[in-house]
Amino acid sequence: MSGRPRVVVVGAGVYGAGTALELADAGASVTLIDARAPGHEWAASSGHSRVLRVEYGADVYYTRLAAAAREAWRALEARLGVALYHEVGVLALETDDQAEGPVGWAQQSFETVVGLGFRPERIEPNDVSRRFPAISSVGVRFASFHAVGGFLAARTATVALVEAARAAGAALCFGQAVVAVEFSGGRATGVRLEDGTSLPCEAVVLAPGAFALRLCPALGIVPPRVTRQVICYAPAPSPHYAAPALPVFAELASGCYGVPAWRDEPALKIAAHLPGPTIDPGDASARDATRDTLDVHRAYVAQRFPALAGLPLSEPHVCCYDMTPDEHFLIGRAPAAANVIVATGFSGHGFKFASALTPAIAQLALGEEPAIDLARFRPDRAMPG
Ligand SMILES: Cc1cc2nc3c(=O)[nH]c(=O)nc-3n(C[C@H](O)[C@H](O)[C@H](O)COP(=O)(O)OP(=O)(O)OC[C@H]3O[C@@H](n4cnc5c(N)ncnc54)[C@H](O)[C@@H]3O)c2cc1C
Repeated sequence: MSGRPRVVVVGAGVYGAGTALELADAGASVTLIDARAPGHEWAASSGHSRVLRVEYGADVYYTRLAAAAREAWRALEARLGVALYHEVGVLALETDDQAEGPVGWAQQSFETVVGLGFRPERIEPNDVSRRFPAISSVGVRFASFHAVGGFLAARTATVALVEAARAAGAALCFGQAVVAVEFSGGRATGVRLEDGTSLPCEAVVLAPGAFALRLCPALGIVPPRVTRQVICYAPAPSPHYAAPALPVFAELASGCYGVPAWRDEPALKIAAHLPGPTIDPGDASARDATRDTLDVHRAYVAQRFPALAGLPLSEPHVCCYDMTPDEHFLIGRAPAAANVIVATGFSGHGFKFASALTPAIAQLALGEEPAIDLARFRPDRAMPG
């Protein structure tokens, strides 16, 4: 691309905001557009926390990428002067009743990270409760604690990235949805806003989160399936439920995980990484969590934090996953136009990687070769039906 390229970034979640910052740093003329305000409650990049773990089963690519992202978050923290990453450690658990065969997610992750030179601690199942008094070790067959890992301050990070992009020269346009990408001769020429105005540009980055289903089909991309995910909070009646006494905890074979109480968040976050029912992300009634039974969360709390069994769970909140069939992301040039870069389909595990992936997304938008291998995220890859 010659001259100062004009790039429109659609969506000011962590991906759009991070990419806009990278593009502005690279000297592009950037406009970052969002239908609402950054970090709003319907965006996935909202809420208090998102887990950063390098534990990814036997998957070396994600393990390495998470480690790189951790370094990049630290660099962003130093640049932005805001606390974004809290390294409270990760406790990975595997239980007898998980039908995963002899070696499950936690043990596979342990072996992978050790193979890559990390030093997590293996904890005998009987010692889990001694080490972390809030936790019951009933049924645990494998446990490890890794001091590398913790959680990211999701909304804070997203808003800080937007502000940094603005300070680096990006123009912000909030409160207007992009309704279409405009094309001529197989290339995007700009985007059309809901008020009918057109914004011409040389490249478009589409980072619309779950709302990708509105824009993907015109670009030759099968949109991710949008699922309804509920998080909630359990009380933290003693310091045993707060970091540093309690780290992030994850039992991904059963789907449940959570974040300890922490300074500005006095309760225990409980979530289930199990894709929920398909919904329309714009349907307010589907986002109403107030009447949710929270059965999965309640059962998990009763099993793993027995002192909290029966206590009320609070602040249920619905957030959307943008699921691809293989749960890998959709990042790359759109089949319908090479100057449209999509960054969506983060399948419920994308936040942690944004610091590592947004520089590569910006490189694609500038017509450069990305510095990291994005082959597994190609939007036109074959996926299970
Ligand atoms: C309950 C839950 C728990 C999660 N936990 C973790 C975790 O622990 N660790 C982890 O790594 N990841 C986690 N994730 C995933 C992570 O939060 C997401 O992958 C990430 O935030 C996605 O960011 P995004 O920028 O793609 O999308 P979003 O944050 O959703 O941002 C998209 C933005 O685009 C805007 N937009 C959409 N369409 C348009 C349009 N047409 N015009 C203008 N603007 C538009 C929206 O308003 C929105 O602001 C979790 C997700 C959920 C829902």
